[in-house]
Amino acid sequence: MGRNTEASCRQCRRERLKLFLKGDRCFSDKCAFERRSFPPGQHGQARSRKPSDYFIQLREKQKVKRMYGMYEGQFLNTFHTADRQKGVTGENLLRLLERRLDNVVYRAGFASSRNQARQLVRHNHVTVNGRKVNIPSFKVSVNDEVVIKEKSCSLTLINESLEAVARRGVPAWMELDAPGYKATIKSMPERDQITVPIQEQLIVELYSK
Ligand code: SF4
Repeated sequence: MGRNTEASCRQCRRERLKLFLKGDRCFSDKCAFERRSFPPGQHGQARSRKPSDYFIQLREKQKVKRMYGMYEGQFLNTFHTADRQKGVTGENLLRLLERRLDNVVYRAGFASSRNQARQLVRHNHVTVNGRKVNIPSFKVSVNDEVVIKEKSCSLTLINESLEAVARRGVPAWMELDAPGYKATIKSMPERDQITVPIQEQLIVELYSK
């Protein structure tokens, strides 16, 4: 199964949750979910039967996969890696997702959405510890320095995103040096620092069937 090509706002409505896929628009009154928080389609507002456990688990997995903009295969591989690690599989999974370079670029405020962050990484605007890295799934480690290339620092989208993140703040596990266009990873993300509403145990149950 490939990447989901459904329009971003429809994805939020399908998951009945704001997934913040469209940058600043998600924080404005233009957000489609604010106006229509029911699933898209002809039967979106119809009362549905009590959902099965499988349905609930599947929706949770789809929600997280969409949030991080991943392919099914990539997501499953990440789950297998999390499962092989010591500790709680669900928390390992979230930590691996948060450590993705595109997510770090987004969380640091260099981009206003993960999609935009992925484009910045792919188009060689980002370095890690002084080396060009154009792989969005690259996993950052503690003390890594994620920096916007000097010639890219004048890009309007980066500067506008940094202005917005100054209001929202960055996660405690990273330190942002906005004038230097640099984010330093201070520690691995802890579960309570990942504030998005995810029930990761449901994903573990789904893949454990
Ligand atoms: Fe989702 Fe609203 Fe952003 Fe559209 S604008 S992607 S509905 S959060």
